[in-house]
Amino acid sequence: MNARGLSFRPVLFTAVLLGLFALASPASAIRPDDDAVLSPVDFQVLNRPAPVRGADNRRHMVYEIQAVNQSGMDVEIRKIAPRAQGNRLGLPFTGDRLGERTRINSGATGTTLGPGGSAMIFIDASYSLSRKRPKAISHAISLAWADPGNPSELVRQTFIGVSTRVSGQQPVVLTPPLRGPEWVAANGCCTMNAHRGATLAIDGTVRVPERFAIDFVQLNGQDRLFTGPLNDLFSYGYYWAPVRAAAPGKVVAIRQNLPEQVPGALPPDATIQMAGGNYVVVNIGHGRYAFYAHLATRSVRVRRGQKVKAGQVLGLLGNTGNTDGPHLHFHVMNSPSPLQSSGLPFVFRGFRGQGVVRNVAGLQAGEVADIARDRLRGRYRGALPMEDQIVRFGK
Ligand SMILES: [Zn+2]
Repeated sequence: MNARGLSFRPVLFTAVLLGLFALASPASAIRPDDDAVLSPVDFQVLNRPAPVRGADNRRHMVYEIQAVNQSGMDVEIRKIAPRAQGNRLGLPFTGDRLGERTRINSGATGTTLGPGGSAMIFIDASYSLSRKRPKAISHAISLAWADPGNPSELVRQTFIGVSTRVSGQQPVVLTPPLRGPEWVAANGCCTMNAHRGATLAIDGTVRVPERFAIDFVQLNGQDRLFTGPLNDLFSYGYYWAPVRAAAPGKVVAIRQNLPEQVPGALPPDATIQMAGGNYVVVNIGHGRYAFYAHLATRSVRVRRGQKVKAGQVLGLLGNTGNTDGPHLHFHVMNSPSPLQSSGLPFVFRGFRGQGVVRNVAGLQAGEVADIARDRLRGRYRGALPMEDQIVRFGK
């Protein structure tokens, strides 16, 4: 044990230790205390991760760790390295890579938590398809802080902990919700983007419904999103594309009377209730719900309570709710509520990869797509499209 680490809250530490002994049930599950350290930061994994096969032919474990600095000191998080079966799982998060994945709630940048400060850390631990599915993961974590007794000295601490079981649930296998070529899986897995960072405290509990969400847009014959005025919905050839049920199930929620937004800017008055615009939620079984959002005004073709088949048209792609251009927002979640849910992984039964768009933001401004044609190409079965991958659904 690092004695200098005891310079904060020694009383609490004693209480915690006593609590640990009182709670110790299966002795084998408890690590020997000899090498235990008193950490100034509490780390909690928000939801049990479930691995999913990505179109990069790796399995991705996508989850969030909430970090709370329980001390009155500045504490730097220097490394978070996911581990499974006693070995490293994917690359460790350090330096810029950790900085990119850390969102400090005070708005500060970097990976140092101020006194009582907190952060959300967005992990994507990927591993090869040949590796055995882990049952549990833990993390090697390194922290550093100035020694309160001697501020010119840095105290460094490394420990292995913050374990979580891996969900036993397999990703649901879906039929694509759209048909045709040149769909772009914008804001998809597994980088930091608008979906991934959407951790919302709803009624006081943090939820991550959009963890695996994709915003589908389609390139036209000129490799653009639109031809004509940016702010005219009909400039976008895929506006009103049929949106189809990705799996059979029962419709549990719809909304369809919200007006279309003008493309080119987000609506100034969006509320969280309006965020998804017009939508359909389908209960697809086994505690999973498919969410189809931003549908065109009064285009929903199903009723609440109706059973739908895979491939059945639910409505038309639109631009309603919190959106700055026509797209289908699609995700799978663990409850019928688009807000009070946790995002679950899914794969599509089959699709063809056609490259990766390198300039999605420019695309939205009217640029021609800059496409890496040699990346993520070919036939995929049972995979999740990767961020900005161009995919062909159907023949
Ligand atoms: Zn979206």
